[in-house]
Amino acid sequence: RAVVHWFKSDLRLEDNRALQLASQVAQEHKIPLICLYILSPEDLTAHLCSPARVDFTLRNLRVLKEVLGERDIPLYMETQDKRQAIPGRIVELCQQWGANHIFANLEYEVDELRREARLIRRCARQGIKFEAVHDTCVVTPGALASQQGNQYAVYTPWYRAWCTFLRQNPENLEVIDAPASNPAGARKQLAADLFASEVPPAPSNKTLSDEEKKRFRTLYPEGEESALERLQKFLDSAGRQYADNRNYMEKQATSVLSPYLAAGVLSARTAVSRAQAANRHQLTGANAGLSTWISEVAWRDFYRHVLVHWPFICMNKCFKPEFTNVEWEYDEETFCAWSEGRTGYPLVDAAMRQLRHCAWMHNRPRMVVSSFLAKDLLIDWRRGERFFMEHLVDGDFASNHGGWGFGSSTGVDPQPYFRIFNPVLQSERFDRDGEYIRRWVPELRDVKGAAIHDPYHRGAEAIAAKQGYPRPIVDHSASRGRALARYKRALQ
Ligand code: FAD
Repeated sequence: RAVVHWFKSDLRLEDNRALQLASQVAQEHKIPLICLYILSPEDLTAHLCSPARVDFTLRNLRVLKEVLGERDIPLYMETQDKRQAIPGRIVELCQQWGANHIFANLEYEVDELRREARLIRRCARQGIKFEAVHDTCVVTPGALASQQGNQYAVYTPWYRAWCTFLRQNPENLEVIDAPASNPAGARKQLAADLFASEVPPAPSNKTLSDEEKKRFRTLYPEGEESALERLQKFLDSAGRQYADNRNYMEKQATSVLSPYLAAGVLSARTAVSRAQAANRHQLTGANAGLSTWISEVAWRDFYRHVLVHWPFICMNKCFKPEFTNVEWEYDEETFCAWSEGRTGYPLVDAAMRQLRHCAWMHNRPRMVVSSFLAKDLLIDWRRGERFFMEHLVDGDFASNHGGWGFGSSTGVDPQPYFRIFNPVLQSERFDRDGEYIRRWVPELRDVKGAAIHDPYHRGAEAIAAKQGYPRPIVDHSASRGRALARYKRALQ
């Protein structure tokens, strides 16, 4: 007999609820624990997973296999092209291994829930027990409700309820132990090829060049040890000034833990629990930087709660149905200019080039470029949402959809649609000296002073033109007026 843990986006040993439960069953019954990972190229394509994110996953699987192996726990990995085949294949493997109990952490996106529902039915037919547990959020979706008993659609009251809940139920912040080693003799009971299982190759449409692999390995080293180290370093230093510095793009004042949280190499519970410990055991108060950081990690929970309560957002729909009727422009040229960082708005261009180079973008310009696409260019925000998923190493459906809903004013954000980011003002405010722009837009490196924010209107026209930097593709105030009119018309 054996028990199975099925890894998905929870690629870690520490603080992994389903893995710990599986380990407990193994210990109790003195049976081996087998870990499983199935890669589905079709699934990665359907969910627009970026090559950088696939590479990060595969690198983390390599580490997982090693650390599990040290505990005599095998990690069996294989590729199943068709995602529909996954439930059947899991049952087949369990039968082959003599396993009658499977654990997994729940994923809340609709496709994933449908897959799990199929697995439940198949397992039931074969007498296999399948337990899918809540783990990815610090506070389980469904635990918070407004006084009227509804799910909150606005972050601030939701966040207050989130903090109150955690103060009243502090066990939710208790970090879960890593699994124990497999019971003595387990290695002998299991077929040797289980331990020899190799990390699957990246699907052909998700590969990186050697240079990219090297670059991303340096930016986002794999393994939960790297994640925990990055977390601790952040909490000990930049985290303390996070409230003051987080919006300044060039200060590198944020944690850059999003790739680890998205792939589950770091659990959000561990992140909040350690931040709280560093913050004199407070969620709020004490150090302003750490408190603010906790409230940002909470946004991740918030968007997952929104997804669970309004699953239609998984179907290419916006949260606010009244904006379904916005009449979008389908201008390929301006979309390409945006995606390649050639809009003539230095902050937008710097950000899009950062995205292409790092597979990551700072939060402030994520807001600016999403607003720019949806409002200044009036291009359907879903094109931007897709583009982000296809390029981000931290691509995460709920947070990405939430962010795009914010930028395009079609999401849960209570701000009216006429709040439109001005890319030049944002640049002046959050990249005062233009360092971020100079780093990512080399054409503007020699532009001095405030002209960097808008070279064609501030006396740096000659340098910009000579270096081939494009003129602004739209006039912000005119396009602002156009967006307001279109959004207003959609509401009529
Ligand atoms: P830190 O500032 O150090 O914050 C710590 C963690 O808190 C982050 O790693 C992240 O997990 C969480 N977090 C912080 N801000 C947010 C937020 N606004 N929404 C949700 N979670 C948050 N985040 C993703 O993880 N994946 C995405 O695909 C994604 N797409 C986005 C798209 C748009 C248009 C916008 C505006 C935001 C998006 N975000 C996304 C949220 C945010 O920009 C990133 O989480 C953040 O920039 C990651 O950097 P960091 O790890 O240094 O964050």
